[in-house]
This record gives sequence, C-alpha cells and structure tokens, in this order.
Amino acid sequence: MSGRNKNNEVVVLAHGDGGRLTHELVEKIFLKHFGSQVLKQLGDAAVTEVERGRIAVTTDSFVIDPMFFPGGDIGKLAVCGTINDLAVSGAVPRYLTAGFLIEEGLPMADLERVAASMARTCREAGVEIVAGDTKVVERGHLDKLFINTAGVGLVPAGVDLSYDKIQPGDVVLVNGTMGDHGMSILSAREGFGFGEQLVSDCAALNGIIASLLEEVKGVRLMRDLTRGGLATSTKEIAGAAGRDIWLDEASIPVSEAVRGASEMLGVDPLYLANEGKFMAIVAREEAEKALAVLQKHSLGQNARIIGEVKEGPGNVYLRTALGGTKYLDLLAGAPLPRIC
Ligand code: MG
Repeated sequence: MSGRNKNNEVVVLAHGDGGRLTHELVEKIFLKHFGSQVLKQLGDAAVTEVERGRIAVTTDSFVIDPMFFPGGDIGKLAVCGTINDLAVSGAVPRYLTAGFLIEEGLPMADLERVAASMARTCREAGVEIVAGDTKVVERGHLDKLFINTAGVGLVPAGVDLSYDKIQPGDVVLVNGTMGDHGMSILSAREGFGFGEQLVSDCAALNGIIASLLEEVKGVRLMRDLTRGGLATSTKEIAGAAGRDIWLDEASIPVSEAVRGASEMLGVDPLYLANEGKFMAIVAREEAEKALAVLQKHSLGQNARIIGEVKEGPGNVYLRTALGGTKYLDLLAGAPLPRIC
C-alpha cells in the first residue's frame, strides 16, 4: 500500500539496517533537529577541538514509561539527566551523544517530537549532540523507545569537588521541592486522579550550578537527586565522606500536591526521584550566600538549607517535624521501575 501518509508513518525494521531508510531517518529526524557542524560530518566518530584541562565523562540510559509525561518526555529527560551528572561534578557540559533503540512500529511523529524536544533542551542549555546511533528491534523486543547517552564536559580550573572536602559544620542545601518527578510519573502511569498539579521537575541544572560555583568558593560536593531521592543520595554521600549528615524535616521543601499524594499512597517524598534538583554541601560561612545565589535563579526559588554535617561514621538522621529522630537508609527495593 502506498497510500500511507506522513501522519501514520511508523518506524520499520529497515530504518535500522544501515541502508537507504536509515539514511532517510537520520536526515529527516536527527539531522533536521540536531544538525550541528560536527554531527553533519557523519563520520564514524565526532572529532572536535577542546581546551587543555580536565574533562568529565558520563553515560546514562533512559527507559522511562510513559515516554511523554507532564513536564517532559524521554528526550528532554535524556538531555537534562546527562547534563546534570556533568554539572554536579563541576563540569561545564559541552557535548552529548544519543543512541536510539526503537521498537518497530513506533510512530514517526513520536520520534520526531522526542528529537525536537532534545534539540530545544540542548539549545537552551548550550550543549551539542555530536554523535548518534539508531537501532530498530522487532515489535515486542523493547517498549517503544529507549535512549542511551554519553556526555562530555570541561572542568574549569580551580573547581575541585570531592568527598574528602566535606567537614563537620558544613551545611546541606537543595534547590527546591522534593519528589516532583517520581510522583508525577507514578501518577501518570497509574492514572491516579491528582489533576495537573503533579508535574515533573525535569530541567537542566548547568546554569544554576555555574552561578553557584562562580559566586561561592566553599562548595564541597554536589549531587543530583535522581533515583532513590534525597534520602538515598544523602546516605551515599555520608557513607563515602565518612561523616554523619543530619537533615531537618521541617526545612525540606515538598509541594502541597506531592505531600498530599504521598500521604495517600503511603510513599515518602524523600525517596522519590527528582530530575531538576540537586544537593550542595557548602562551607558554613558561605551557606547564606549560597542560598541567596540559588534563590535568585528560576530553578532555585524554593531553595533551602536543609541540614548539616557532623562528626560520625557516615549515618544519616532526620530530625522529624514532630521532634523525633529517624535513621535514613538507602532506598530498598524498586517501588518505581522505569522512572528515568
Ligand atoms: Mg547523578
């Protein structure tokens, strides 16, 4: 049948065979949206100039279900997630790669919507997709679309973040409310009727982090608060640093919508994933300045100081809003598969 119009065009196995249809797909979706000078050369590898210094390299895979969700989509998430891992490491994100693993039958319009979203997110964040790959597998062998990325960033001279720098007395800051991504995905997937208040916080953090590093010299370590949420990340950092961290529940920002949904579902927002939130551990004497820098930025309006570092073997404690103390451990089990 030749009457298949553009609106119901789908990805077929031949789009992944390296032949004519692969070339067409690359031309009309990926080059159209990602067409950087480096990518357009279509070599076997991207070759580009870099300044002398240190590079940061990261890789990630994105399998989120559903692929379109309130506040984002798998493409925006892939770009932001990769950028954020570089940014919290102190790097200025520069180059990304994107590998697309596609299930035969994926509507071409969905693939294009994802590509356009990735391109927009890259433009806004000042990064470039310089290499890519496409594979198509038979129907039923994966679910619609998975994306694998790599990211390369340059670490400016003088930026040196490490667990060893964390000292008793340091303070813990976050740039906003906890649990928005995890709760929005849970809600979208399960069809809970929580309305439109639950929106993923998916965002690229390189801008706000660059401001923080520029204006505050006492930043010890940063971490983006993805799978496992604030509680798990804090526990990992405390363990690696060999210091205790005390969090103050009343200071931890959680939106009304996430709080309400969490209570109803019996989940703890401190263990829910975020995709536009990070934690910074900062020298005490610069805590107020760091807070002001974060709150000045659009992605930090709800920033708070939420805790402090103490002498200890690497435990995490929560001073509860009711005046008790709770021991926080790593997230156990996987209540939410395919969250990112
Ligand atoms: Mg990370």
